[in-house]
Amino acid sequence: MVFSQVLVEWYAANKRILPWRETVNPYYIWVSEVILQQTRVAQGIDYYLCFIRAFPTVFDLAAADIDRVLKVWQGLGYYTRARNMHVTAKEIVERHNGSFPRTYKELIKLKGVGDYTASAVAAFAFGEAVAAVDGNVYRIFARIFGVDTPIDTQKGKQELKAIADNMLDKEHPGVYNQAIMDFGGTVCMPRKPNCLSCPVMEICSAFRNRKVEQYPVKSKKIKQTERFFTYIIPQKGGQTYITKRVKNDIWKSLYEFPLIETDRQMEVDEIVETEEWQTLFEGKRVDVLYYSVPKKYMLSHQRIFVRFVVARISEESQLLKENFSAIELSKVHDYSTSRLIENFLAAEPVEKYFKKDD
Ligand code: SF4
Repeated sequence: MVFSQVLVEWYAANKRILPWRETVNPYYIWVSEVILQQTRVAQGIDYYLCFIRAFPTVFDLAAADIDRVLKVWQGLGYYTRARNMHVTAKEIVERHNGSFPRTYKELIKLKGVGDYTASAVAAFAFGEAVAAVDGNVYRIFARIFGVDTPIDTQKGKQELKAIADNMLDKEHPGVYNQAIMDFGGTVCMPRKPNCLSCPVMEICSAFRNRKVEQYPVKSKKIKQTERFFTYIIPQKGGQTYITKRVKNDIWKSLYEFPLIETDRQMEVDEIVETEEWQTLFEGKRVDVLYYSVPKKYMLSHQRIFVRFVVARISEESQLLKENFSAIELSKVHDYSTSRLIENFLAAEPVEKYFKKDD
């Protein structure tokens, strides 16, 4: 029996019941595929339901304010996905009257839609015979065929894409693509694949040669950058200050407290001597009411060491006045912030430093 047949049969008996599988609506499929790109299925379900409740159609998404989109996305990470979706939704409304293009060739022309997403929407919503190829698929075929070309190189990707195209069940592209995704998520997982219950173990080169741990081959390790953040939570009359991140950096367009980034971990008495602190408060009187122990926060390519400092200020500096919004601390939750800030506020009772008459 050929690989695709075995896989589709396995899927018929083992498929996961997922809300986006019950529809051929391209908008819902697109939303689910973007969410699932860097998110586990279990976590993705709630976000998917929440997202389509907030923006039931592509028109709703296109018309929404980006801050609202980011707020709904908050906690999922990789915020570029949400910003790109917003841009794509506008393009679909403005240039395609709100109808998704029906072919891979047309879908891939949309801004912010990559190869995988275009293939997935074309196959799942419109039944086009294209293979949706992502990291799961690279890993599966690298193991089955014992591909030694690293999967993080152009050559490796091309080689594996050619295999994936060749293996596609052209009669049932939707089911086949769903099947391979589930297979990668529940059997041939990145770590500790479940080889003993694998339906294709007999044809798997890595398994036969006892080399499962060695595949897929990667050329390089992801380099992690270390960054040191001190968030200042200014307090004046019970209010604090936030601003939107505008630079092309992590968390672009999310809101945050004044941030001082340094090239090493600094103690609070060193931070208050920095030029950034002086610029932020212009030499006005500041009382440090609280500071947290630095904590490590991991992103895919960055390791962030973060500390929060609550500082009571006697007067607003020009910089705070011009570049930040003064809001009540409890209102921070109305804004889209990074999970790091969200988690900190949930865990630390800093409200006690916010008295109206202070
Ligand atoms: Fe993946 Fe193991 Fe099956 Fe090979 S035998 S395809 S490594 S689960």
